[in-house]
Amino acid sequence: MQKILVTGGCGYIGGHTIVDLIQNGYEVISVDNLSRGSLRMLSGVEKIVGHPVKNYKVDLCNLEDTEAIFIENPDITGIIHFAAYKSVPESVEKPLVYFRNNINSLVNLLQCAEEYKVNHFVFSSSCSVYGNTDKLPVEETAPLAEPESPYARTKQMGEAICRDFAARHPEFNVTLLRYFNPVGAHPTAMIGELQEKPENLVPIITQTAIGKRSEMQVFGTDYPTRDGSCVRDYIHVMDIANAHTKALQYTIEGNNTQNCDIFNLGTGNGVTVLELIASFEKTSGQKLNYKLGPRRPGDVVAVYANNNKARALLDWDIKYNLDQMMDTAWRWEQTLKKEAAKIQMN
Ligand code: UDP
Repeated sequence: MQKILVTGGCGYIGGHTIVDLIQNGYEVISVDNLSRGSLRMLSGVEKIVGHPVKNYKVDLCNLEDTEAIFIENPDITGIIHFAAYKSVPESVEKPLVYFRNNINSLVNLLQCAEEYKVNHFVFSSSCSVYGNTDKLPVEETAPLAEPESPYARTKQMGEAICRDFAARHPEFNVTLLRYFNPVGAHPTAMIGELQEKPENLVPIITQTAIGKRSEMQVFGTDYPTRDGSCVRDYIHVMDIANAHTKALQYTIEGNNTQNCDIFNLGTGNGVTVLELIASFEKTSGQKLNYKLGPRRPGDVVAVYANNNKARALLDWDIKYNLDQMMDTAWRWEQTLKKEAAKIQMN
């Protein structure tokens, strides 16, 4: 069994990816300092896969502690690197915190990969590296524009660091995965996104529907789109998770033609905010209390992926449609409500 190190394994995409890796025959160890991730994620993962998953509570910015993981596990085949801060507004407030955390951790991890000869590496990137782009759907070859936030800059810098490292090491294979808008939860509703105060649309919708928020707003109704609201490419988190497994297999089996490759992970379908709300209301049977509001500063009008490359080369495809994204997100919100009620009773 090949052993994969997942950093940020107690976070949203990391946790779902661990499930997919294990169900595809990999052994997984996680490293997560729990500054943003939660052990609740790992306990849900363990319930789904039916056995414990080891987490090292280590800060990747500490090189010595990070090296100790590689010394204890000399048989690591590949690394999937999720661990990073990801809030756009927070990164605008505290750019240095974002550079220190997201860049130092990556450099340390690559140093360990070099030292301990781990040659398969998947880096969690984002469609935010494209900045404001007007050529849709976006292809991987699109030029990268000036990033819109320090968070996006850390992703552009992270990609460049991986690319320079790969150029120096022909035996090293790195895959850069650019996510569009990951949403939804595992179909068992045993794991999902854990955020008290989410900034993203889907958890805001489910929190409003369940009563954690009294109402929500649609940010902007005068955009030049089908119905005036913004267009995004929402993709189910398990489809994103499976792309990581496939990306690792791709380089482990030596199917890659270059040692630094980039893939967009989106469905290829642009969906407006109002269409997404309609899908939510239909699948959940809930009437959502929303108001039409002004534009949110910094939002791009529309962005969606061309995902042909990932589908052609990674033997990967989309399994979840928009209604399934909304259904799993809604059932996960109900799981959270039941858990909160249980805690209150005890
Ligand atoms: N959005 C909204 N109301 C909210 C949160 C988000 O209308 O309470 C919109 C937002 O303006 C954007 C879309 O939903 O058009 C997706 O926003 P999100 O923050 O989830 O992702 P991103 O903007 O990073 O693509």
